[in-house]
Amino acid sequence: MIEIQSLTVGPFQSNCYVVVCTQTQKALIVDAGDEAARILSAVERMGVDVIAVLNTHAHLDHVAGLPDVVESLKVPVWMHADEMPIYDAVEQQAAMFGLVPPGRVEIDRFVEVGEQIKVGNLTGEILLTPGHSPGSVCLGFWRETPPRLIAGDVLFMGSIGRTDLPGGDYDTIIDTLRQQFVPMPPDTIVYPGHGPHTTIEAEKRANPFLAPLVRER
Ligand SMILES: [Zn+2]
Ligand SMILES: [Zn+2]
Repeated sequence: MIEIQSLTVGPFQSNCYVVVCTQTQKALIVDAGDEAARILSAVERMGVDVIAVLNTHAHLDHVAGLPDVVESLKVPVWMHADEMPIYDAVEQQAAMFGLVPPGRVEIDRFVEVGEQIKVGNLTGEILLTPGHSPGSVCLGFWRETPPRLIAGDVLFMGSIGRTDLPGGDYDTIIDTLRQQFVPMPPDTIVYPGHGPHTTIEAEKRANPFLAPLVRER
């Protein structure tokens, strides 16, 4: 069975998710956004064996806790290759907000679109979902009932990720939503990078960006 713990961290209130296979206690951390100490004590308290950290994308608010988490847990970092220009600019992102840059760890492996990520007995599919940033990925656990989607900053309850930062593009995110999100199972629970979780059905009904795309069809 899948269990998804969320921690809201840092000045931008980003969601860090710990995805756990309850049969094996294997876990994947998604977006060590900040407050590494809190993330580390959460996984310790849960008693899980973390296999890796996945960055949905490389905005500062999703990677600022990464160096301390990785150093402490000695786990690999995964990300999509298209996100490297954003990852390489983390220092500039910090300067833009007047924040101390978090330091840097290397990306150990680039995930690929369609790749199946094994977390114990769970299988998550990597979706490449650009628009908010060029190499944004989501992670879909389609075999679960209901299905779960870790959505990064692509889709929020009632909104979508901003597209005015470097590498962002409005038409691209709308295309991502149209081609990949509209067809998703309606009961999919969406775990966004900020704010509360929601469902595909609720967003197709009420999200001002997604609802018009449903009516197009
Ligand atoms: Zn972002
Ligand atoms: Zn964010």
